[in-house]
Amino acid sequence: MRFSSLFTPSSSTHTGAAAILLGFSLWASSARAQDRTTEAGEAAITDPNQECTPYTYTPVASLASSFPANWVQPAVIVPNDTEALNKWNSIKSSIPTNISVKGTVKGDFSNFTPTYPTSDPDCWWTYDKCDTPKLAGLSPDVINIPEPLSLGYGFDDGPNCSHNTFYDFLSTNKQKATMYYIGSNIQNWPLEGQRALADGHEICVHTWSHPYLTAVQSESVFAELWYTMKMIKLAIGVTPTCMRPPYGDIDDRVRAVAKALGLRVIVWQSDSFDWEVGSTPGVTPATVDANYQSLINAAKNGTYATSGTIMLTHELNNFTMSEAIKWYPALKAAFTAIVPVGVGYNITQPYLETNYSLPSFSQYVGGQLTATGSASASSASVSSDAQGGSKAGAAMGMPTASNGLIVSIVTVAALLGGVARVLA
Ligand SMILES: [Zn+2]
Repeated sequence: MRFSSLFTPSSSTHTGAAAILLGFSLWASSARAQDRTTEAGEAAITDPNQECTPYTYTPVASLASSFPANWVQPAVIVPNDTEALNKWNSIKSSIPTNISVKGTVKGDFSNFTPTYPTSDPDCWWTYDKCDTPKLAGLSPDVINIPEPLSLGYGFDDGPNCSHNTFYDFLSTNKQKATMYYIGSNIQNWPLEGQRALADGHEICVHTWSHPYLTAVQSESVFAELWYTMKMIKLAIGVTPTCMRPPYGDIDDRVRAVAKALGLRVIVWQSDSFDWEVGSTPGVTPATVDANYQSLINAAKNGTYATSGTIMLTHELNNFTMSEAIKWYPALKAAFTAIVPVGVGYNITQPYLETNYSLPSFSQYVGGQLTATGSASASSASVSSDAQGGSKAGAAMGMPTASNGLIVSIVTVAALLGGVARVLA
């Protein structure tokens, strides 16, 4: 079953009074959704066309010149950005220079792999799924969850502008996840990014422009990660301490840059391949269903009896989010705990800002799902504009949403009264 109707505007197949009621309902929804300046206002929109209509969020838009070009691969340090340059100069001596830059940012390694030693000296994940670095001082990548029968739950490539129905689903099910956000997407959809924090999800870095990182020069690897951290701070109010390399493409050179920026590396054990449907011939919705089912079968047959796992899934598009919704009940039945990765590792302070925390694993499975504290009044040093973003994030509240809903219901009721009179 596809949930596409959840993410696309209702069709015009309804007729008669039903169409009138639907029309008024959508009109009421539109009227409620005029606020494109706050997290709560944006989160209240459920029409995907409205959700994905660009808006201007001044705290982010006013600093666009302080960030790399949107979605241009790879990111580079902005000229005259002395803070970034100073940071890069302070860490670059720790980045190995004897590890080759590989292939292209689009992932064509055909000119590189023929001469790459089969011993995999760089611990290149794309080559052989190496997750234990060979360069001294680097930590192994996170690929699973230590707790038995636990699933590290998370979604790559957001924020997706039309994710409200999906995030509503997660909230309704009291489910938190790790969101691996792309800096360029946050620049375009900052209020959608704020929603992750307001909803209690964990936020990690997923680069600025989504290149294959082993193909990117070290200074640009730094820029891809640094500016995504800065954008998350500016738009959302927190600074992540975790990252996921696009396509899992990482080696010890890229790991060294991540480490220098205080970022833990999270990859995965299995791939749903939800992201390849529609772009890779032969990968179909049935392929993705089979991959979800395989994960569930493995959970049921004892594969994760001593330690849990992580599967790669996305909020990339309507299909990937619909699959996540469709398979959630079966995942809940197969695993004893479904947790953000940070929760799985008891990382109760997932951000540089210490006034925001996540529950421990035992707290989470005991029913304490919500982060404590807020992202406001941060002491970090991005800019004063960040405070606007963080306050907006912290100010997201059910009272506003509830009031909006109540107003909507009252409005619809009043309209229906009018309709009844017209129809009568
Ligand atoms: Zn990705």
